[in-house]
Amino acid sequence: MRYRSKINLGLKMARQRKPSSPQEELAQLEERRQELIAQLRSDAENTLKQALDDFNKLDLGVAYELRARDRVREKGRVQKRVVAKKGSSAGNPDRLCPICGFATIPPHDGRAHRSQSPKRPFSAGELTERGMNAAS
Ligand SMILES: [Zn+2]
Repeated sequence: MRYRSKINLGLKMARQRKPSSPQEELAQLEERRQELIAQLRSDAENTLKQALDDFNKLDLGVAYELRARDRVREKGRVQKRVVAKKGSSAGNPDRLCPICGFATIPPHDGRAHRSQSPKRPFSAGELTERGMNAAS
């Protein structure tokens, strides 16, 4: 039994050492890469957890916990926020014009009414004139 499993292990290792194609070699490298990353991560996390445990056991009136953050998603969120800020008042198609009380396509806001005195909602004719349609 022991002998047999040793042979199987030997075969497996031989197979990993000699890939039959570049694709297979790449797949093996990727697999190894994932293994190494998982190992690195687990080692680093254990170190962190141990340090936190040690700290918390000191009972200094404050305890810390380890929380994972998705770095990629966080970056995306920051970029999105910047983009949204740029076009916040006129860029949102769901935003109702405070003067008309309805949204248009393309969207507009109170600034479009600057020339009016007194300010009033755009009529159907004015919307057409400005190349806008009521959105709802
Ligand atoms: Zn309006």
